[in-house]
Amino acid sequence: MPRITLIWQGQPYEVEASPETPLYEVLKSVGLPAATTILAAKTPAGIHELAAPVNGHTQLRLLSWDDPEGKYVFWHSSAHILAEALEYFWPHCKLTIGPPIEQGFYYDVDFGGNGPSPEDFEKIEKKFLELAAQPEYFRRKVVPREEALAYYEKRQNPYKQEIIGELPPEEPITFYESGGFVDLCRGPHLWDSGVIKAVKVLSLAGAYWRGDSRNPQLTRVYAISFPSQEELSAYLHQLEEAARRDHRLLGKQLDLFSFHEEGPGFPFWHPKGMRLRHALQEWLRQKLYRYGYEEIQTPIILTQKLWEQSGHYENYRQNMYFTQIDEAPYAVKPMNCPGSTIVYRTHPRSYRDLPLRLFEYGLVHRHELSGVLTGLFRVRAFTQDDAHIYCTPEQIQPEIQTLLRLVDEVYSAFGFTEREIYLSTRPENYIGSLELWNEAETALEKALQAAGLPYQINPGDGAFYGPKIDILVRDSLRRRWQLGTIQLDFSMPRRFGLTYIGPDNQHHTPVMIHRAILGSFERFIGILLEHTAGELPLWLAPTQVKILPISDKFLPYAESVYEKAYQAGLRVELDRSNEKLNKKILLAEQAKIPLLWIVGAKEAENQTVSIRDRRERTQRSDIPVSQAIQEALSAAAPPN
Ligand SMILES: [Zn+2]
Ligand SMILES: [Zn+2]
Repeated sequence: MPRITLIWQGQPYEVEASPETPLYEVLKSVGLPAATTILAAKTPAGIHELAAPVNGHTQLRLLSWDDPEGKYVFWHSSAHILAEALEYFWPHCKLTIGPPIEQGFYYDVDFGGNGPSPEDFEKIEKKFLELAAQPEYFRRKVVPREEALAYYEKRQNPYKQEIIGELPPEEPITFYESGGFVDLCRGPHLWDSGVIKAVKVLSLAGAYWRGDSRNPQLTRVYAISFPSQEELSAYLHQLEEAARRDHRLLGKQLDLFSFHEEGPGFPFWHPKGMRLRHALQEWLRQKLYRYGYEEIQTPIILTQKLWEQSGHYENYRQNMYFTQIDEAPYAVKPMNCPGSTIVYRTHPRSYRDLPLRLFEYGLVHRHELSGVLTGLFRVRAFTQDDAHIYCTPEQIQPEIQTLLRLVDEVYSAFGFTEREIYLSTRPENYIGSLELWNEAETALEKALQAAGLPYQINPGDGAFYGPKIDILVRDSLRRRWQLGTIQLDFSMPRRFGLTYIGPDNQHHTPVMIHRAILGSFERFIGILLEHTAGELPLWLAPTQVKILPISDKFLPYAESVYEKAYQAGLRVELDRSNEKLNKKILLAEQAKIPLLWIVGAKEAENQTVSIRDRRERTQRSDIPVSQAIQEALSAAAPPN
């Protein structure tokens, strides 16, 4: 009998089993906790469910709830159970698709305009748990294509028929059955759905079939499930905390930005929001200068011809805005790259000029469906911290290494110390020479290794024009955000005819590296607000100091303190209202202003202030004004 190696919690288990033996029986034979703790397995061919025969696999890594792939199987299975619960209460509903997502899963359902409301969530959850507790919930059945189509024809479900129609003819069609309920799916599923002990239906949203607004509107039912009630409670608590930190609320509370129907998806930045943006942008700008970058700015509107040349017109048109100038067609830029190549071309370049690092705080516009606009997280206009590096193939590795150091410095400045790095490699349909790809992928790996950074490889997930590195961070609520991307590009320099003269006096094509560290200032500020719950570090706080006179009588003295602090370069405000001191303090606290300077009779007489540090929760009286200014300035010094 063939030998199989099972890897469980880092330990190998050697076992003999015939190819037809289902995996859960193999696990049982060596006394491993099949089903209760082990949810599925990972093989080079993908995720393998416990019910499936081992079928020639010789090495299987066993997955638990703690593995992302384990959660995937858990939530994928849960989506089926949710669908059955929905069909139980709404027998004529039409199921479409129901994938697992980063946190939980959803199912898109056509309820024919008469679907669930939040009052129904509880009964759905109850039914769900009842169904999950059934033994042998998932039974796999291969069905002939005609039978599968006939089943959904009878149920008048055009969506599933469409999905079946798109499956390649050689692919077997599989149904998963439980009781009278059937769902089209290729798996993988849990072996025992009884491990799902807790579920919460979270929300309802509108969604279009295939994401296309010309198609029928569906109801998306979001839910999440867990192996225990405790884990569900912890998750719900985290959701509440996230709601409290919602950047849209904080944006209002801190008076940073707003949205209006006159420009859906286009943020309006208020004076305080601009102070924050400038502090962030200026800090990053100085850092980029130290790293040998130069700043450029390219036009927002450029000829349509340019976008045809870059390939955006062909592949990205749906997300672009078009206009006309003197009857010629133009487009609003959705990306900064083509503009950057035009600047590159303004001079003949030599290998001695490379790497050439050009950064641009580039304002781009992209059309997003109105349904997906979400505060600063999903907008229609945003400013990227974009850069394009032009280099020789030999320079890729040192350049990426330097870039990774820069990325590390930037993220550390905000306390984003927990990171995940993904390297996406050559896909099937690639352009450029295989040699260049291999060289580039090796360079990226070497750079990651030299930086001592753990990374995962997404094989074949690179763009057709080059491999890339994605960097994700976790915020203080341990939510993951993708911030940075480092994308190599072998195509665009060719499309735009970019060259440099090599040491051999010949023309060569440079490699182009597109990279963003924060992503966009809009989205990053949104993330930062939620990460810090609005308690921005002093160096970024839109208002660092607010001066509060005890009464109008001390306003002239307060004005003189304000003037000194302002001239010293602090971002300072003076409360000129005639409110009571307590009210003034309350308002400043709501705006999360870090330092309050209170001035009254004693302070005016001694030329001092009383400092109330909201975050340190300290209060010190009678501090000379010059000392208070110096202290605040040094505390507000930005990180290196
Ligand atoms: Zn499934
Ligand atoms: Zn670019």
